[in-house]
Amino acid sequence: MKVNSQKIFKSCLSISLALLLTVLPISSYANNKDIVPNRNEVESKYKWDVDKLFDSRASFEAELKRIETQLIPKIDQYRGKLNNIESFKDYSKLTDEIEIALYKVYGYASMISDIESTNNDYSERLQLAESLYYTYLEKTSFVLPELSSMDEASFNKLKSDSSLKDYKRMLDIVQENKNHILSEKEEALLAQLGELISAPGTLHSKITLSDYEIPVITDKNGNKIELTDDKYYKILESEDRELRKQAYEARVNSYKKNNHALSANYSNNVKANIINAQIRNHDSALSSILFSEEIPESIYQNLVSSVNKNLAPLHKYNDIKKKHFGFEEMYIYDTYLPLNEDSTTRYTYDEAVDIILKALAPLGDKYVSDFENGISSNWVDVYPSKDKYTGAYSYGSYTTKPYILLNYDNTLDGLLTLAHEMGHSMNSKYSNESQEYKVSNYPIFTAEVASTLNELLVMDYLIKNAKTDDEKLYLLNKQINNIRGTVYSQVMFAEFEQIAHETLENGQPLSPDFLNTTWLTLAKKYNGPSITTLDSYQYNWSWIPHFYSSFYVYKYATSMSAAYSILNKINGPSGDKAVEDYLQFLAIGGSVPPVDALKVAGVDMNSSEPVDGLLAYFNELVNDYETILTK
Ligand SMILES: [Zn+2]
Repeated sequence: MKVNSQKIFKSCLSISLALLLTVLPISSYANNKDIVPNRNEVESKYKWDVDKLFDSRASFEAELKRIETQLIPKIDQYRGKLNNIESFKDYSKLTDEIEIALYKVYGYASMISDIESTNNDYSERLQLAESLYYTYLEKTSFVLPELSSMDEASFNKLKSDSSLKDYKRMLDIVQENKNHILSEKEEALLAQLGELISAPGTLHSKITLSDYEIPVITDKNGNKIELTDDKYYKILESEDRELRKQAYEARVNSYKKNNHALSANYSNNVKANIINAQIRNHDSALSSILFSEEIPESIYQNLVSSVNKNLAPLHKYNDIKKKHFGFEEMYIYDTYLPLNEDSTTRYTYDEAVDIILKALAPLGDKYVSDFENGISSNWVDVYPSKDKYTGAYSYGSYTTKPYILLNYDNTLDGLLTLAHEMGHSMNSKYSNESQEYKVSNYPIFTAEVASTLNELLVMDYLIKNAKTDDEKLYLLNKQINNIRGTVYSQVMFAEFEQIAHETLENGQPLSPDFLNTTWLTLAKKYNGPSITTLDSYQYNWSWIPHFYSSFYVYKYATSMSAAYSILNKINGPSGDKAVEDYLQFLAIGGSVPPVDALKVAGVDMNSSEPVDGLLAYFNELVNDYETILTK
């Protein structure tokens, strides 16, 4: 059973980086290649000890062989017998054992490959582990259809048997999904079509990345500039307005050139979601996707409506910018101009850990000392080194440490990334310690609460302890943009997806004109009166990759809202109780649906309070910012 199969993917999807492609420049943690050290030059206390999980290729392969030849072949004997309590129990124990072992070998192979991406031995190990994982999935593909087509009496017997209580949650999920799971034959047919169904996403990346002809512009000195992402955002932050305008127009033109292809492609993506929802008996594409994550549709609708009611502070922020720069008209290409000098404050890794520990003090002694222990027991691979993966993530399995890969670069972003990833790792530590394997894995809807709360606590601490107005302005602006990118931008995306799906569901085609106009209307609404949103901005939606992970991005906004709500409770009069509740929430893993898990932390996502609270905080930040700026 693959209730936990997502564990094979890295659990962290760092919010502030990848998602804001169209909103903010992509920060890269990779340092200049010339100065990246060799791995053996990095002190061992700054390296994780993943390599110790297996002492040689031989021992790694021996474990693979044990799983492949001794464990996996046993699965078949349970086919057709899962209605028997003893068989079901033995089957479940067996697959728990396989999955725990499998995720350990897979995680190990994946992490060592990320450290030395050019090491052939390591990439072979990863392929071996991957192929074993797919064998396992294939061998267990009969289970879900067998359980969902089981007669009710037998199924209820499984659910009520006390010796199977560890599997009740998984059986509940199967039962909830019963009306949406097809027969074994139909599921197999659909699986065969899987690649075709996801083709629009692939095609999008081919058009926007592989086949994309990077535009070239010429600056006032006659120098030709290739508009790579990096260059583009650098130009948007530069003083030369004419160059900013040129860069913006060159980009928009290349979007326009592909508008028909990308519109048809997106329309197919939406169609695939709708057909999938229909054949699985769901009311709509939105409800089918939220249903699979146990999120009520009202949460999505409430989020969109709360944000719509709170656009004024965002418009005010844009207005502050316009006045500050003295623009008569402020265009999109003027909005990236930095309001402050970039902070020159740098933090060594040890200093960063120190600051984070102080900032997390409100979470109580236990959290802080467990955090400290994690740092000193080689959870974190800190520095960039040659051939190392250049992002950041938290990753581990049920029986390993919750490891973290960083490319620490002494900046505030680096410090926040450490706090963020440690949020995930602490969550894994507590849920693995407290829950049986089957329910240890927490869903994405709650995962980003633990990481975001740490970031909010750190920013809160830094803002409160800022020594000068300049430092405070810088931090306030950073926090404003963090919330802007995580809430306002994502909810604008969420509205766009919702309109597109509903339109097609109502039988209206998704023409390029319709998609462009929808986007432009939303952009004008979110930008507000201080930004002149040019008609040429209508094509920008088509470049956003996240529209191919449908109804996903809203979670960034809900997570941050929940995290802020917890922060408020912790800083409030019943802080001790709030901390206790929060630690309980971290330990809950996947043992209850995500909305119920958040209730344990005192957050009711069914009400508009968490989102409204966060946006009220955004409003305060904007007011504080204005006060200091106009002093
Ligand atoms: Zn994350």
